[in-house]
Amino acid sequence: MRAAVHLAYGDAPARCPACRTSDELRMRWGCDSKAPAPVFSRTCPRCSGADMECERCNGSGVDVVYRCPTSQIGPNAMNVMHAYQWSEKGVLPGPGGWTDQSAILLDAFSVIGSERYCIAESERRSREAKAKVK
Ligand SMILES: [Zn+2]
Ligand SMILES: [Zn+2]
Repeated sequence: MRAAVHLAYGDAPARCPACRTSDELRMRWGCDSKAPAPVFSRTCPRCSGADMECERCNGSGVDVVYRCPTSQIGPNAMNVMHAYQWSEKGVLPGPGGWTDQSAILLDAFSVIGSERYCIAESERRSREAKAKVK
């Protein structure tokens, strides 16, 4: 799910379908197997960045991904992402209001929201870092 958010809003250069046509890009972006360098990083999906003793991220809260975001996204996550983008335009996937939507969907929406926030924060930090260098 978080990979889908990075695909939609993140700054990872890896973008399908550009990788469909270039073996070199597929290798560099990790479309088929692990890439030689990190492709993007996301909030740790196991602890959501909240567990200092998390085994997956060693307490850093960050999960570095060596794979093309598209390769990590199932059709389900893609559907939820589309529903989220529609909901921003005021169109909800199910009948009724926001609170009438399924709990699973609202959970997924809140994951999307928090990951978007993390992306915005890291962009802000890198802008600030650049501003300091100048
Ligand atoms: Zn790809
Ligand atoms: Zn973790």
